[in-house]
Amino acid sequence: MNKNRTNGLAIVAALSVALLSGCEAPSLDGLLSTNNPSQPAGNTATTADGTQTNTAEPTAGDSSRSKWASLAETIQDVNGVPTVTNPTDLAVVVNKKRALPADYIPPDLVEPNVPFPFDEKVEKRMMRQEAAQALEELFAAAKQDGIELYAVSGYRSYKTQKSLYETYVQTQGAEHAAAYSAVPGKSEHQTGLAMDVSGADVKTRLEESFGEMPEGKWLAEHCGEYGFVIRYLKGKEDTTGYAYEPWHLRYVGKDMAKDIMAAGLTLEDYLSAKATAQK
Ligand SMILES: [Zn+2]
Repeated sequence: MNKNRTNGLAIVAALSVALLSGCEAPSLDGLLSTNNPSQPAGNTATTADGTQTNTAEPTAGDSSRSKWASLAETIQDVNGVPTVTNPTDLAVVVNKKRALPADYIPPDLVEPNVPFPFDEKVEKRMMRQEAAQALEELFAAAKQDGIELYAVSGYRSYKTQKSLYETYVQTQGAEHAAAYSAVPGKSEHQTGLAMDVSGADVKTRLEESFGEMPEGKWLAEHCGEYGFVIRYLKGKEDTTGYAYEPWHLRYVGKDMAKDIMAAGLTLEDYLSAKATAQK
């Protein structure tokens, strides 16, 4: 990428890359409102048509779960939008074909005690409690190995994703936005289970080259031990719908993460295989 780009171009470029997966463009930090006082904090998710979704389901994401639902069993049509029925499940699959309920807010968002490359107290610091604790353990282990990590972008509300999307439409046009940006509800960051991670080098932040850095290699080797997977793998674009993103970590719980990383599978393929195997 052109290192001499202007700030304005950097914003556009960052949007172009980052919104492919719903990963955030860091250059837009100051432009966006991230608090949403109009939405109640709570653990009851209601779908757009008013249907209560069952957030009381067990959230166990480990491979000891007694039943593996197929992807087809965890999706329902809500006003024409294929919407997941298990938003609080640690194994929830959100992608271009599977949206979260528009008003879904994770029930237990907290801020992990890890380094961030910015000072603002914004929602993207947050993750769900279990994921946040696991991220702290991951970062501590990295530090012990001499690897310095930063948490760049975690939770993103539907409202924030909508603002990002609309900004993209305004700056790039509707057609371009449809082709390149993450539609609100379809960003994994809304689950509170994802975190974009970087090293100290800003040049490789949210760039594919991060995968070749010591930090990126360390993450690929060790993230599974702490319950995280590299969600968007190289060569699996047809399955995930997204380009390779060595910086985008998704928490699924330790047992499942170890299995997935050892097998080199996408979350989609892993869950499909599990559901098929039990039949
Ligand atoms: Zn991301």
